Amino acid sequence: MKNIIIFGAPGSGKGTYSDEIVAKYNMGHISTGDVLRAQIKAGTELGKTAQGYIDNGQLLPDELMIDILADAYDKFPAGKGVIFDGFPRTIPQAEALKKMLAERGHDMGMMIELVVEEDVLMARLLNRAKEQGRADDNEETIKKRFAVYHSQTAPLSEWFAKEGIRNTLAWAELGSKEAMLEAIFNTIEKQA
Ligand code: AMP
Repeated sequence: MKNIIIFGAPGSGKGTYSDEIVAKYNMGHISTGDVLRAQIKAGTELGKTAQGYIDNGQLLPDELMIDILADAYDKFPAGKGVIFDGFPRTIPQAEALKKMLAERGHDMGMMIELVVEEDVLMARLLNRAKEQGRADDNEETIKKRFAVYHSQTAPLSEWFAKEGIRNTLAWAELGSKEAMLEAIFNTIEKQA
Protein backbone atom coordinates (compact mmCIF):
# COMPACT_ATOMS: atom_id res chain seq x y z
CA MET A 1 0.00 0.00 0.00
CA LYS A 2 1.22 3.49 -0.83
CA ASN A 3 1.69 6.11 1.86
CA ILE A 4 -1.02 8.75 2.11
CA ILE A 5 -0.68 12.31 3.35
CA ILE A 6 -4.05 13.64 4.43
CA PHE A 7 -3.96 17.41 4.31
CA GLY A 8 -6.36 20.17 5.30
CA ALA A 9 -7.25 22.87 7.80
CA PRO A 10 -8.17 22.15 11.43
CA GLY A 11 -11.66 20.62 11.37
CA SER A 12 -11.45 19.45 7.75
CA GLY A 13 -11.92 15.82 8.84
CA LYS A 14 -8.35 14.48 8.60
CA GLY A 15 -8.70 12.33 11.74
CA THR A 16 -12.20 11.07 10.96
CA TYR A 17 -11.38 10.03 7.39
CA SER A 18 -8.02 8.58 8.44
CA ASP A 19 -9.86 6.20 10.80
CA GLU A 20 -12.06 5.06 7.91
CA ILE A 21 -9.07 4.58 5.59
CA VAL A 22 -7.23 2.58 8.26
CA ALA A 23 -10.26 0.35 8.79
CA LYS A 24 -10.67 -0.32 5.06
CA TYR A 25 -7.07 -0.76 3.95
CA ASN A 26 -5.37 -1.87 7.17
CA MET A 27 -2.78 0.89 7.03
CA GLY A 28 -0.62 2.45 9.70
CA HIS A 29 -1.74 5.84 11.02
CA ILE A 30 0.36 8.63 12.48
CA SER A 31 -1.51 11.63 13.87
CA THR A 32 1.12 14.01 15.22
CA GLY A 33 -1.60 15.85 17.20
CA ASP A 34 -2.59 12.55 18.89
CA VAL A 35 1.07 11.75 19.63
CA LEU A 36 1.48 15.14 21.33
CA ARG A 37 -1.79 14.86 23.29
CA ALA A 38 -0.70 11.41 24.56
CA GLN A 39 2.62 12.91 25.72
CA ILE A 40 0.76 15.69 27.54
CA LYS A 41 -1.47 13.12 29.24
CA ALA A 42 1.57 11.07 30.27
CA GLY A 43 3.20 14.20 31.72
CA THR A 44 6.50 13.78 29.80
CA GLU A 45 9.00 16.57 29.08
CA LEU A 46 7.88 16.56 25.45
CA GLY A 47 4.28 16.85 26.65
CA LYS A 48 5.16 19.87 28.78
CA THR A 49 6.84 21.55 25.82
CA ALA A 50 3.96 20.68 23.51
CA GLN A 51 1.27 22.02 25.83
CA GLY A 52 2.35 25.66 25.54
CA TYR A 53 2.36 25.56 21.75
CA ILE A 54 -0.94 23.68 21.45
CA ASP A 55 -2.76 25.96 23.91
CA ASN A 56 -1.62 28.95 21.85
CA GLY A 57 -2.56 27.41 18.52
CA GLN A 58 1.10 27.54 17.42
CA LEU A 59 3.15 24.89 15.67
CA LEU A 60 5.94 23.08 17.51
CA PRO A 61 9.46 23.56 16.09
CA ASP A 62 10.10 21.61 12.89
CA GLU A 63 13.20 19.73 14.18
CA LEU A 64 11.22 18.34 17.12
CA MET A 65 8.30 17.27 14.93
CA ILE A 66 10.57 15.63 12.34
CA ASP A 67 12.20 13.46 15.05
CA ILE A 68 8.78 12.50 16.45
CA LEU A 69 7.56 11.59 13.00
CA ALA A 70 10.58 9.45 12.06
CA ASP A 71 10.33 7.56 15.38
CA ALA A 72 6.63 6.88 14.83
CA TYR A 73 7.18 5.79 11.21
CA ASP A 74 9.90 3.32 12.15
CA LYS A 75 7.54 1.54 14.54
CA PHE A 76 5.56 0.18 11.57
CA PRO A 77 6.81 -2.80 9.54
CA ALA A 78 8.80 -1.53 6.52
CA GLY A 79 6.60 -1.08 3.49
CA LYS A 80 3.29 -0.99 5.37
CA GLY A 81 1.44 2.01 3.98
CA VAL A 82 1.11 4.80 6.53
CA ILE A 83 -1.32 7.71 6.67
CA PHE A 84 0.30 10.96 7.75
CA ASP A 85 -2.38 13.01 9.50
CA GLY A 86 -1.37 16.48 10.67
CA PHE A 87 2.14 16.19 9.23
CA PRO A 88 3.73 17.88 7.32
CA ARG A 89 2.48 21.33 8.29
CA THR A 90 5.37 23.42 6.93
CA ILE A 91 7.57 23.25 3.85
CA PRO A 92 10.67 22.22 5.87
CA GLN A 93 8.61 19.37 7.40
CA ALA A 94 7.53 18.26 3.91
CA GLU A 95 11.11 18.30 2.67
CA ALA A 96 12.25 16.36 5.73
CA LEU A 97 9.46 13.80 5.23
CA LYS A 98 10.45 13.26 1.61
CA LYS A 99 14.09 12.82 2.63
CA MET A 100 13.30 10.52 5.57
CA LEU A 101 11.21 8.27 3.30
CA ALA A 102 13.81 8.30 0.50
CA GLU A 103 16.48 7.19 2.99
CA ARG A 104 14.31 4.12 3.63
CA GLY A 105 13.64 3.50 -0.08
CA HIS A 106 10.03 4.70 0.27
CA ASP A 107 8.12 7.68 -1.10
CA MET A 108 5.29 10.00 -0.11
CA GLY A 109 2.73 8.09 -2.16
CA MET A 110 -0.25 10.41 -2.56
CA MET A 111 -1.53 13.56 -0.91
CA ILE A 112 -5.26 14.06 -0.42
CA GLU A 113 -6.33 17.63 0.36
CA LEU A 114 -9.70 18.23 2.03
CA VAL A 115 -10.93 21.72 1.12
CA VAL A 116 -13.62 23.02 3.50
CA GLU A 117 -14.95 26.58 3.91
CA GLU A 118 -13.95 28.39 7.07
CA ASP A 119 -17.48 28.88 8.46
CA VAL A 120 -18.06 25.10 8.22
CA LEU A 121 -14.71 24.45 9.91
CA MET A 122 -15.49 26.83 12.77
CA ALA A 123 -18.91 25.26 13.38
CA ARG A 124 -17.42 21.75 13.40
CA LEU A 125 -14.62 22.68 15.80
CA LEU A 126 -16.98 24.40 18.24
CA ASN A 127 -19.16 21.32 18.12
CA ARG A 128 -16.13 19.07 18.72
CA ALA A 129 -15.30 21.24 21.73
CA LYS A 130 -18.67 20.33 23.25
CA GLU A 131 -18.36 16.63 22.42
CA GLN A 132 -14.68 15.94 23.11
CA GLY A 133 -13.58 18.87 25.25
CA ARG A 134 -10.31 19.49 23.38
CA ALA A 135 -8.65 22.44 25.12
CA ASP A 136 -7.56 24.08 21.84
CA ASP A 137 -11.10 23.95 20.38
CA ASN A 138 -12.18 27.35 21.70
CA GLU A 139 -12.99 30.25 19.42
CA GLU A 140 -9.90 32.29 20.23
CA THR A 141 -7.43 29.42 19.73
CA ILE A 142 -9.29 28.18 16.65
CA LYS A 143 -8.81 31.61 15.03
CA LYS A 144 -5.09 31.44 15.78
CA ARG A 145 -4.91 27.91 14.32
CA PHE A 146 -6.63 29.13 11.13
CA ALA A 147 -4.13 32.00 10.86
CA VAL A 148 -1.21 29.59 11.33
CA TYR A 149 -2.77 27.26 8.76
CA HIS A 150 -3.05 30.06 6.17
CA SER A 151 0.44 31.43 6.70
CA GLN A 152 2.50 28.26 7.30
CA THR A 153 0.58 25.21 6.10
CA ALA A 154 -1.64 26.17 3.14
CA PRO A 155 1.37 27.10 0.92
CA LEU A 156 2.33 23.41 1.08
CA SER A 157 -0.59 22.57 -1.16
CA GLU A 158 1.35 23.98 -4.14
CA TRP A 159 4.48 22.17 -2.99
CA PHE A 160 2.58 18.87 -3.27
CA ALA A 161 1.17 19.89 -6.65
CA LYS A 162 4.74 20.41 -7.88
CA GLU A 163 5.62 16.96 -6.55
CA GLY A 164 2.79 15.70 -8.76
CA ILE A 165 0.92 13.93 -5.94
CA ARG A 166 -1.85 16.40 -4.98
CA ASN A 167 -5.50 15.27 -5.11
CA THR A 168 -8.02 17.91 -4.08
CA LEU A 169 -11.50 17.07 -2.76
CA ALA A 170 -13.93 19.89 -1.96
CA TRP A 171 -16.63 19.68 0.69
CA ALA A 172 -18.62 22.35 -1.18
CA GLU A 173 -18.91 20.01 -4.18
CA LEU A 174 -19.31 16.70 -2.36
CA GLY A 175 -21.57 17.96 0.44
CA SER A 176 -21.72 14.94 2.78
CA LYS A 177 -19.42 12.74 4.78
CA GLU A 178 -20.49 9.69 2.73
CA ALA A 179 -19.75 11.40 -0.60
CA MET A 180 -16.42 12.65 0.70
CA LEU A 181 -15.46 9.18 1.88
CA GLU A 182 -16.40 7.62 -1.45
CA ALA A 183 -14.27 10.21 -3.27
CA ILE A 184 -11.37 9.46 -0.92
CA PHE A 185 -11.63 5.71 -1.54
CA ASN A 186 -11.84 6.30 -5.33
CA THR A 187 -8.74 8.47 -5.19
CA ILE A 188 -6.83 5.83 -3.27
CA GLU A 189 -7.91 3.00 -5.55
CA LYS A 190 -7.07 4.92 -8.71
CA GLN A 191 -3.48 5.22 -7.54
CA ALA A 192 -2.91 2.05 -5.58
P1 AMP B 1 -4.01 18.50 15.38
O1 AMP B 1 -4.61 17.50 16.31
O2 AMP B 1 -3.39 17.88 14.16
O3 AMP B 1 -4.97 19.62 15.03
O4 AMP B 1 -2.78 19.18 16.17
C1 AMP B 1 -2.99 19.91 17.37
C2 AMP B 1 -1.80 20.80 17.66
O5 AMP B 1 -0.62 20.01 17.80
C3 AMP B 1 -1.47 21.83 16.59
O6 AMP B 1 -2.26 23.00 16.70
C4 AMP B 1 0.01 22.09 16.89
O7 AMP B 1 0.16 22.91 18.04
C5 AMP B 1 0.52 20.69 17.26
N1 AMP B 1 0.99 19.95 16.06
C6 AMP B 1 0.43 18.81 15.53
N2 AMP B 1 1.07 18.41 14.43
C7 AMP B 1 2.08 19.32 14.24
C8 AMP B 1 3.10 19.47 13.25
N3 AMP B 1 3.21 18.63 12.22
N4 AMP B 1 3.95 20.53 13.39
C9 AMP B 1 3.87 21.38 14.42
N5 AMP B 1 2.92 21.31 15.37
C10 AMP B 1 2.03 20.29 15.29
